Order: sequence, then structure tokens, then C-alpha cells
Amino acid sequence: MIDIINPVSEKKLYSIEEASDADIFAAFAKARLASDELYGSTVQERTRDILRVIQYLQDNEERLLDRIVEESGRSRGDAMLSDMVQMLEDCHWLVENAARVLADEKVPTPITLFGKKSHIYHEARGVVLVISPWNLPLAIAGTAALFAFAAGNAVIIKPSEQTPMKGIFEEISKLSPLLSQAITVVYGSGETAQKLIAQRPDFISFTGSVRTGKKILTQAAPLVIPVIAELGSKDAMIVCDDADIDRAVGAAAWGNMHNSGQSCTAIERLYVQSGIYDEFVRRLKAAFEKVTLGTGPDHDMGAITTPFQMDIIDGQIRDAREKGADIICGGEPAGHGGYKPTIVLNVTDKMRLATEETFGPVVPVYAFGTVEEVVRLHNQCDFGLSTSVWTTDPAIADHITRAVVTGCVNINNVMLTEGNANLPFGGVKYSGYGRMKGAEGLLGMTRSKAVLVDNTRGKPEPNWYPYSQEKLSLMSRLMRAVTSPAGPGKLFALARVGLALDSLLKKDSELDT
Ligand code: NAD
Repeated sequence: MIDIINPVSEKKLYSIEEASDADIFAAFAKARLASDELYGSTVQERTRDILRVIQYLQDNEERLLDRIVEESGRSRGDAMLSDMVQMLEDCHWLVENAARVLADEKVPTPITLFGKKSHIYHEARGVVLVISPWNLPLAIAGTAALFAFAAGNAVIIKPSEQTPMKGIFEEISKLSPLLSQAITVVYGSGETAQKLIAQRPDFISFTGSVRTGKKILTQAAPLVIPVIAELGSKDAMIVCDDADIDRAVGAAAWGNMHNSGQSCTAIERLYVQSGIYDEFVRRLKAAFEKVTLGTGPDHDMGAITTPFQMDIIDGQIRDAREKGADIICGGEPAGHGGYKPTIVLNVTDKMRLATEETFGPVVPVYAFGTVEEVVRLHNQCDFGLSTSVWTTDPAIADHITRAVVTGCVNINNVMLTEGNANLPFGGVKYSGYGRMKGAEGLLGMTRSKAVLVDNTRGKPEPNWYPYSQEKLSLMSRLMRAVTSPAGPGKLFALARVGLALDSLLKKDSELDT
């Protein structure tokens, strides 16, 4: 049994039972059967079911927010924005776009394959295993599962054992017969997840830490299971001298402390150009000190969700303090599971805070001189998920955007690419690979099938046997004609070599008979 604890009251909410081997076999048996059933469903039927999910989320908004807040300890506003709004946006995007993105595609066929037609079918992968983290208990598992479902897959969700939201995904699955076949929830720890992987799902959608991501990749590799890995980060915000300071300060405070800092795209490195550094830090400190702590609708920042996360945050602060950093505000737990908004100056590479993901309301602030310097500092990091760039000069914004190695860039905003379901979401380096959301995320839940249709009747192909020197020379002429510049000369050369190949084929078939 695993106890689920409210991080604020420290009271037990309920327990979940670690799945047994029999539960895991049953989940896969059901999912494999469902995958066959889903094969016969249309994307329109599936998006109609996603409309029911939208209705369910809206009808149950208050109850779902209560559940998220009590399990995660985050503020109600954070739960609303990151879980509820995100999942609704993503569901709405699927309803509007899934049929278009998943439609069979007709693609051009080269002249060398004259008379053929080419298509791409975007087919379901089969059974998708969704392994999710504790920081956004509804939206991460829910969005991954519904993208997989929209593409025609059966889904097994293994929610985090810290915030499993027991019963909620089952309620979603009961919204329609197809959803109830398609969605199965299996509870348990990492051990259960490992047993699920051993059953060889057709695809794994993993969101979580780098440490676990590496373990999953190691287990999946010999089984040749494709994986999308959405991992941790240490994202940067770059504020140039010409930036709108007021907006940038507000964005830095929210971008660092949203979800109590427990966002994969949280601002964890703040680079401020030296011309405005002192002023910026002064205003940032004032903004941090204004943040209200608690889980009510009027509170800004809630608690840290797990005790081990609190240990990581506090450990990094102790390490930074011992190594000479200046903590200008916060730097200690706030009681009731919270951590005080914390700004740290004079951070060096020797400190854990400089290089490790913090996942808490703590921001180191660095001064930089030139754009080239800040790009170098940005790219030294082992992570790259979402970068924020602040300047009123579009040319500088464009230069930095192209130069930074990262998955997403927000110009004069923070964490907002995630808010647009049309954009792909995902990282580089240790932040992982593959993309969620958008057309790329939906197509990631499919395998492309290449289809070529030939309606030729009664004559062989030039590339078939017999080979001869004459045929090879004609092939060589054909490729020269194909790759020559467009124009009447090209058309003439193609026609000549086409006729020559045709007469060679006729000669070969006369010899045969
Ligand atoms: P975690 O890696 O500890 O756990 C995530 C999930 O993996 C849980 O369901 C857990 O039970 C499971 N798991 C644990 N060991 C496993 C194993 N050996 N094999 C298979 N599954 C296993 O992550 P967490 O602490 O729950 O989440 C926080 C992390 O998630 C942070 O690093 C954060 O940056 C990252 N995250 C990334 C994104 C993104 O989109 N890139 C989004 C949210 C969170």
C-alpha cells in the first residue's frame, strides 16, 4: 500500500495498492483487445468522446481543483492554470485538429516512378503506456492519454504514486464505451512501471526526471520500444538592458514560482544585462516579497508537493550558502509545506544550485555583459527545455532565439509556448526528446505507413531483371535528365530516355517470348 499525503496538513488522504502481476497482465490483455477495437473507430468518433471529456472537466471543475490542491499542495490558481486550463486547451485542440492532422496524405511521386501514386497513412501505434510525474497530476497524464486516444491507441496510464488522483482517470474512461475500452489505469511505484514496460507496450510516453528517464530508456532499448522522454530542466531567462523591466520582473517572479517552482519550464537561471542588473534585482526582491503563500484562491504560491523535493531545495540552498552565495530573500522553509520565495546572488559553478534542477521557488540571478556572453552561458547548461528572452529589439531577440540550444523560446514572455496547443513542446540535451502537443505531438502517437499504388498493367518495370549494359546506361541518362535544371531541355531529355527505356523493355519481352 502507498499512502497519499496532503503536503500542507500532512494528513493521509487515502492509499493506493501497488498493482499485482495479475493486474498488469489484465491491463495489457484489455488494452490489446481495445487496440483492435479502436482500429475500427474513426477519428471523428474519438474526438466526439474528447468533447465529452471537455464537458466533464467543466462540470467537475471545483471538485477536480479540490483534488489537485489537496494532493499536490499547489495553490488553486496554479492548479487552475497548469492542470485545468492546459488540459482543456489541449482537448479543444484535438477536437479542432485531429481529423486534419491524422488524415491520409497524398504526396508527390517522382518522374522516375511514372504512373504510380504515393500516400502516407498515419496509423495508431497500438498500446501506449503513459508514465507521468507528480507535478501536474491531471494535465500531463490526461493530455498524453487523450493525444494517444485521438490517434486511435489504447492507453495504459501509470500515474505518479505521489499524486495519483485515484478514480479521476477512471471517471474519464467511463464517459463513453470507446473511452472505457481505450483507457486503463494502473497504480503503483516505479517498480510497477518497470513491470508494465516489460509487457512491451508499442510506445512509451514518459514525463519525469532525467534519472528515471535514463532507466526507462535503458529498459526500453533492448525491447526496441520507442519512447518520448519529457525530462527535467534548468531553464534560463535572459533580460537585456533595453527590456521592459516592469513586465520582465513580473514574468520572472511568476515564471520561477508558478506551481511552487515545480514546473519543468520554471525559470531557474536568470541572466540580467549589467546596465539594469542592480535595478532589476531590487525590483525582483520586492516582487518576491509580495508573493502570498497558501492554497486558497487568493494565494499566489502553494506548498512543495513532496518531502523529498523539499530536501532537494533546502539542500541546494545550504550548499550555496556554505560556498559563499548571497541569499537576499527567503532561503528557508515557510511552514505548512511551503518554501519561502528565494533569490540567490553570487552563485558559482561549484554550487549545486547552478547546475542541478531545483524544482522550487528559488532563482539564482547572474549579470552578463554581451549577447555573445549570455548565449555561451545559456548553452553551457546540460538541459534545454524552454528559454525566455527579453529585449525590445527584434533583431537581438531573433539572434538570441536562433543561437540558444533549447526546445522552446518565449520572446518577452515566460512559459507561454506551452499555452499554445498548436506549438510542439519538448526539450533537447538532458531535457529529453520527442514532442508533445501540436501536430508533431499527435503524429508522435502514430506510426507512418508509406503506401505506393501502381496501376500499370501488362508490362514489366525498367528496374526489374534482366540487367544489361544498355539498361544501366539508360538509367544513368535518366538520372542526369531528372537532376538537370528545369526547362524545355529537361523535358526533351526525359522524353527521349523514356522512349528509349520503353523500346528496350519491348525488346526484352520479345526476346522472352
Ligand atoms: P520521477 O522520474 O521520479 O517519476 C515520474 C514517473 O516515473 C512516476 O510515475 C514514477 O512512478 C515513474 N518511475 C519511477 N521509477 C521508474 C522506473 N525505474 N521505471 C519506470 N518508471 C519509473 O519524476 P517526478 O519526480 O514524479 O517528476 C518531476 C520531474 O519531472 C522533474 O524533473 C520535472 O522537470 C520533470 N517534468 C518534466 C516535464 C516535461 O515536459 N519535460 C513536465 C513535468 C515534469
